[in-house]
Amino acid sequence: MSTVAFPIPVKAAGGCSDAPVLRERGQHEVFCGLTGIIWLHRKIQDAFFLVVGSRTCAHLIQSAAGVMIFAEPRFATAIIDERDLAGLADANTELDRVVGQLLARRPEIKLLFLVGSCPSEVIKLDLSRAASRLSAQHSPAVRVLNYSGSGIETTFTQGEDACLASMVPELPAQAADAEQELMVVGTLADVVEDQFIRLFTQMGIERVRFFPPRRAADQAPVGPNTRLLLAQPFLADTARALQARGAQLLSAPFPLGIEGTTAWLQAAATAFGVPAQRLESAVSAPTARATAALARAKLHLDGKSIFFFPDSQLEIPLARFLSRELGMRLLEVGTPYLHRQHMAQELALLPEGTFLSEGQHVENQLDRCRAAHPDIVVCGLGLANPLESEGMTTKWAIELVFTPIQGFDQAGDLAELFTRPLVRRMRLAA
Ligand code: SF4
Repeated sequence: MSTVAFPIPVKAAGGCSDAPVLRERGQHEVFCGLTGIIWLHRKIQDAFFLVVGSRTCAHLIQSAAGVMIFAEPRFATAIIDERDLAGLADANTELDRVVGQLLARRPEIKLLFLVGSCPSEVIKLDLSRAASRLSAQHSPAVRVLNYSGSGIETTFTQGEDACLASMVPELPAQAADAEQELMVVGTLADVVEDQFIRLFTQMGIERVRFFPPRRAADQAPVGPNTRLLLAQPFLADTARALQARGAQLLSAPFPLGIEGTTAWLQAAATAFGVPAQRLESAVSAPTARATAALARAKLHLDGKSIFFFPDSQLEIPLARFLSRELGMRLLEVGTPYLHRQHMAQELALLPEGTFLSEGQHVENQLDRCRAAHPDIVVCGLGLANPLESEGMTTKWAIELVFTPIQGFDQAGDLAELFTRPLVRRMRLAA
């Protein structure tokens, strides 16, 4: 395993910065943006997500969140059907009534999201007007925002992007003489967030905010002295909205694996004038732990081939980690959208010649996957079972979003998400 050099020569690598990308359009197999509620409701602990949708939406959200049935959930579906829209005014009155009941019963709710969906009945409802009306009615105790989790032409991680983007206009403006502050953008598990807070403190960066916050009232001011560090690669609209408020985006790879995490921290270190030795001393112990954990996983993964279907938008950072730190061979790296600016440093680190595809024509891609005979396939739930029945080993992309995988201390767990299905398949074959 190679050690990390300071500073990390990301830009010098070249890699796939200018590599051709196969762009495909056609049938695609992904979950919709409602899925994001599953991890967002755990993160913002006094928020509630009210899906305005159909019975299908209610089923999706219930089955995706099946593990939550023992707790009092902080999401629900207001089911709208054609009959409700006989008069739109009635639908709005009904929505106001449901929200009123909910807030009366659950006084701990401080932020309510009305989440739109794609059935035609729901599209006719103006949820942004409903949110303003309800916000005026229930403020200051509760703020009401809205965003769309619709499944038309989107992929499931865009639900988080839409949710966070809806929160940006609410953030207070930074004072003109405010000190430079770091804002880490993207939902991270609390345990990961706490680890990063410790690392930033050791580096001497004390003014750090996380967005989304754990509590709705904890609204970070935003302005020209905000430096943004993206923790997730699927936040194009949120980043754009924060940049429009004057915040400056730091260019960095994503904090997956030792190399990605170190370079991500280094981007903050450079922006905040942290000396190289201080960064090195902060990361040396967690790097050593991660190196040991990855050495074990590498025994199983080195030389194995992997094929990514486009799904979570984490594909490119994952491919970079698996190829550079674990020796895996990348057969195809598919991504739903390629944001060249946010992915610039990731692309530079990918091995030259990596086959990149954007968008999906699922039949064509399945043909390429079968012809390539990968050792493991990363794909959505809808493709995993058919591919398993054809003898392939798969990893559900959605699991990579639900699991804490960022940072040094999760690098081993992230690698294990790929070793486990391979080891299981080997046992079955033995
Ligand atoms: S939002 Fe659309 S895609 Fe998602 S569950 Fe509802 S009907 Fe299905």
